[in-house]
Amino acid sequence: MSFINTPPQISIPITGSAETFPVHQIYCVGRNYQKHISEMGYSQGKTVPFVLFLKPPDAVVQNGQTVCMPGFTNDFQHEVELVIAIKKEGSKISEKLALEYVFGYSVGIDLTCRDLQNEAKKKGRPWTFAKSLQNSAPISDITPVEKCGYLQEGNIQLSVNGNIRQKNDLKNMIRPVQKIISELSQFYTLFPGDIIFTGTPDGVGKLKKGDRIFAEIDGLEPLTITIN
Ligand code: MG
Repeated sequence: MSFINTPPQISIPITGSAETFPVHQIYCVGRNYQKHISEMGYSQGKTVPFVLFLKPPDAVVQNGQTVCMPGFTNDFQHEVELVIAIKKEGSKISEKLALEYVFGYSVGIDLTCRDLQNEAKKKGRPWTFAKSLQNSAPISDITPVEKCGYLQEGNIQLSVNGNIRQKNDLKNMIRPVQKIISELSQFYTLFPGDIIFTGTPDGVGKLKKGDRIFAEIDGLEPLTITIN
């Protein structure tokens, strides 16, 4: 088969490998740590809804790169998150089998225009302009599960210019990795190349030009990004 053109193929490096991970879809889960739910002012229901949005593949920013702050926001914020890389196709996956679909993990930042998100919430509009922007998903190189195991706990942390702003533990995720994969796959068929952001802990905050972000999760390649 031949194609009439060649759109950019977005991919993410894999630690210790010359091969890269081609990106298909980018799914993002919201409200997955209780303290973040509280800081965002959501009411405490008995069950936390499965909040989901998507980013385009060209949201990916490689480790070490600079992100230009969009000109239409006055409140550009960081959200450090564990990122899951999916290795095979599946739908309606049970929690028991979900980890078989994990290729590896990265550290990611869900860059968010909080002012536009708050405006969208008020007006009942989608979060697209707040969340689903190009260059809004810096991701560190993927560490395969063969090297880091299946992550259920461990420190997750983000610093800006050397000051720690976010610090929590993966064990505090309301929906752990296997539950996210299972629940997401009830709505979407997952494919190799899919990336899932798993939600941020508390401490999200505003960024300014010149900020240098360092994000880390135990056992994974850390992520460094500069804002301009
Ligand atoms: Mg997020």
